[in-house]
Parts: sequence; C-alpha cells; structure tokens
Amino acid sequence: MSDRPSDRVVVALDVGGTGMKCALVRPDGVVVRTERHPTDAARGPAAVVGTILDVAGGLADKARADGLTPIAVGIAVPGVVDEARGVAVWSANVGFRDVPLRDLTVKRLGLPTALGHDVRVGGLAEARLGAGRGTGHVLFVAIGTGIAAAHVVDGTAAVGAHGAAGEIGHILVRPDGPRCGCGRPGCLEAMASAAAIGRRYAELAGETVDAPVTAAEVAERAAAGEQLAGQVWQEAIEALADGLASGQALFDVATIVLGGGLAQAGDRLLTPLRAALHERMTFHREPQLVAAALGDEAGCLGAALLALDAVGVRDHQEKR
Ligand SMILES: [Zn+2]
Repeated sequence: MSDRPSDRVVVALDVGGTGMKCALVRPDGVVVRTERHPTDAARGPAAVVGTILDVAGGLADKARADGLTPIAVGIAVPGVVDEARGVAVWSANVGFRDVPLRDLTVKRLGLPTALGHDVRVGGLAEARLGAGRGTGHVLFVAIGTGIAAAHVVDGTAAVGAHGAAGEIGHILVRPDGPRCGCGRPGCLEAMASAAAIGRRYAELAGETVDAPVTAAEVAERAAAGEQLAGQVWQEAIEALADGLASGQALFDVATIVLGGGLAQAGDRLLTPLRAALHERMTFHREPQLVAAALGDEAGCLGAALLALDAVGVRDHQEKR
C-alpha cells in the first residue's frame, strides 16, 4: 500500500431520513466511488448507527482494496448537531438523541472523524466547490420540506454557540400567518417551504383539487397563467424575499445560493425572487442570487470537506 498524496481519500456519508449518500473523495475534490444505502429509520436510531458504521467501514475497506489510503471520515446528519463534541444531539426523522457518532466511528474505524449538520456541510460544499465558488461570503439556503441556511465565510460554516446556527426558516415574516412546525405562527418556513406552498394552494383551491399539488406544480401552473397558482407562488416569493432580506441585513454576503427541492424551479423562482429582493434593498448591497450547482451530492461532498479539514488537508482548488 502506498501513501502518496494522490492515493489519499476520505470516507464521506450524508445520512438523510430515507437514504444515505456515500462516497470516497480525494483531497482535490474528485469523487472516486459513490454508494447509496437506505437509512430505514423505522428500525430505530441504534440500527441506523450500526448501518452508518458498517457502510463507513465497508468504504474504507474498498478504498484499501483499490490501493487507496483512507485518511479520515466525514459524516453529515440532520437535526441538531454538536460538531465540537461530535454528537448527533437530536433528529426528528432519524430519531437520534445524543448519539456520540464521532467517537463511535473513531473506535470502529480507527480514523479521524468529523460530524456535521447536513445543511451546513451542503453550504460548505456549495461555497467552496459549487455555485458560491470564488466568493468569500456565501449564504446557502435549502428550501424543501423546511427551510434552513448555512452562512459560510472563507470556506467555514458558522455553527453557532449551541449548534443551531442557520435556522432562517424560523425568521418571523408574517405575524398573522399560518402556524409553523416549531409552534409559532408566521415563520418563513410556514409560508414559503415547498410543503407550505403545496398546503396553501390546496387550502385556497378547496374542493376543486383532489390530489395534493406540489410546489413544483404550483410554479408550473403559475407560469401557465393560472391565477390561483400565481397568487400562491407570488405570496411565497414575497415571504422568501423578506427572509432573504433579513439574512442579507445580518450577513452582508456576496452570494446567496438557493438549494433544496424548490430551487429546481429555476428561473420561475429566481427571476421574481431577484426582483422582490431588489425592492427590499435600501443601503444594503444586493447579493447575487443563484441556484445551487451540486444537486443532492452537496451534503456528501460537504462531509468530505469536513473530513479533509479535520486532518488539515485542503488540496482542492478553491478560487476566491
Ligand atoms: Zn418556526
């Protein structure tokens, strides 16, 4: 076995509620192997942790069999993550409660391990390798069932004092708005997440729709000129613009990268959102608003970056 720098890889896992995206990634950011495995969260957190360790161990073994040297492990998980202690503190969809995932991985694989939050590492990847590349200050906003963000400065995502930085979905945008999953009315997430857009459309359409309409379909119907869809879409755009304007007031970033399912609406989202954000800028400098570039690989690539950072390796090309 050789340990020339070009043979080094990190083991990266992005653990979601339904599936795990896994990869071996070289320090230059090149992915040499990918795997997907079901999370099967219904089995309970202990079984999920067992699968994470098996998959990570299996990838390290495959790397060695190919003549590569695994040097570290990076794992991204959803929920509340204490990155400093390497603990998966809480997760609604995977069921983690204070799981010391970093120590368990170190014990099992004998490799330095970093644990990160899925949206924060996704932001890290977009900022360093994706749509935010070349700009030092990036706000990555993932819009799917919920809305969460990562503020990345010079290639590092802020974690917060309690591991909960970036909860932009719970910025209050409509005090008289619908109740959010967090319990408070009027959060951005309750107005403009993909789930909220579908719900709002169904609510206003009443009995005229019999199947749930997704946010993507609302965008499509709005573009086709349907008045109700247009109204719902515009409401969501206005709420998002309010949330992003707050984000810009706080962080003064060069680039806002939109990811998650809703960003797949492309220009149907970006064009009106740019205009609505522009209207809200007074003395603030207007950020570039762009769609994410890495798709659903961002979390896995971000986990790899975290692993590389943990062992002090930054070989990939990051232009700023
Ligand atoms: Zn909320």
